[in-house]
Amino acid sequence: MSIELRNITKRFPGYTALDNISLKVATGELVALLGPSGCGKTTLLRIIAGLETADTGSIILENRDTTNLPARSKNVGFVFQHYALFRRLNVFDNVAFGLSVKPAAERPSKQEIADRVMHLLKLVQMDWAAKRYPSQLSGGQRQRIALARALAVNPKVLLLDEPFSALDAKVRLELRRWLRKLHDEIHVTSIFVTHDQEEALELADRIVVINKGKIEQEGTPQEVYDHPANSFVYNFLGNVNVFHGRVRNGKVVLGQRLPDEHRELNGHEVKTGQAFIRPHDIGISRIRNGNNHPGVIRDIRLTGSQITLELESAGFDRPIEAEISRESWRNLELTKGDEVFITLDKVRVFTGDFEI
Ligand code: ADP
Ligand code: MG
Repeated sequence: MSIELRNITKRFPGYTALDNISLKVATGELVALLGPSGCGKTTLLRIIAGLETADTGSIILENRDTTNLPARSKNVGFVFQHYALFRRLNVFDNVAFGLSVKPAAERPSKQEIADRVMHLLKLVQMDWAAKRYPSQLSGGQRQRIALARALAVNPKVLLLDEPFSALDAKVRLELRRWLRKLHDEIHVTSIFVTHDQEEALELADRIVVINKGKIEQEGTPQEVYDHPANSFVYNFLGNVNVFHGRVRNGKVVLGQRLPDEHRELNGHEVKTGQAFIRPHDIGISRIRNGNNHPGVIRDIRLTGSQITLELESAGFDRPIEAEISRESWRNLELTKGDEVFITLDKVRVFTGDFEI
């Protein structure tokens, strides 16, 4: 089932939580709503589910206006951040719950319910735990049960509100890969809310970046990562060096040694600018050429498979962070205090929120 939001606005006293949000999610798509805490993600999800009403705008589910329908009439599955399992029911009964409370006329037979519950428990790889109680499960296992429970009533739309954010990093990573595979099997139209950019990049078909109740950008993970629409998206999607500078005579004067092509401003008269460069787009060399700038290594940190270098270079208003592979690090035999030469690739300059 497709989802379409048209001009959704929601105000709380003295505060606009959602400001004219329009968005389409195609049938079978997995879309991530990504944004910092407080930007309105949960509010939007609750409005789609019918747990909250918007002040203006409409929600169209598969060509049907459901704006004023209550949650129970919408056929939407919801998984929350905090485990919302019934503590006194075992896993089987938790998953069966939505089916067993249906009115008699719609309720499947006992056998059908049992078959469906066991099928879902297998799908989330928890069939071995049917008789256990939530307190006997880990956080990750409980969230898998919560997902099975949401799927039990055959929802047309699945809404997930930071379902993995209370779990530790390794489990979170496993679960998002698992969820991606599961989605490829069942293709239920899904909206996944997260404030974790890595999770969104790895999991989603499409990412919608939200800030202060507004959509900043939407696109595939690659589009939003490689072509951020503005400085907010650049900052939010991954590590980035931000250098401040002044724009004089049509040129951005940051570190004075920015490559020439990044100084051009197409004749714009602008006062301040910011240059954005991802750490892995910074090249480090022992050899000087016409394009690189001298710098000094102030710190070397091991960050998993990568090495992070902190560098200082004359003319830059703050330390430069560069990421290189362990292999380059070994080959270059870098140590603290060494002088090296820095190449800046893929520099993007924004003034205010306008790209130059
Ligand atoms: P997110 O899920 O992105 O962290 P929320 O949608 O929960 O953000 O909240 C967005 C903003 O709306 C926050 O500033 C929050 O304090 C405010 N808010 C949410 N629900 C209510 C409410 N019922 N009453 C007043 N303010 C609310
Ligand atoms: Mg939230």
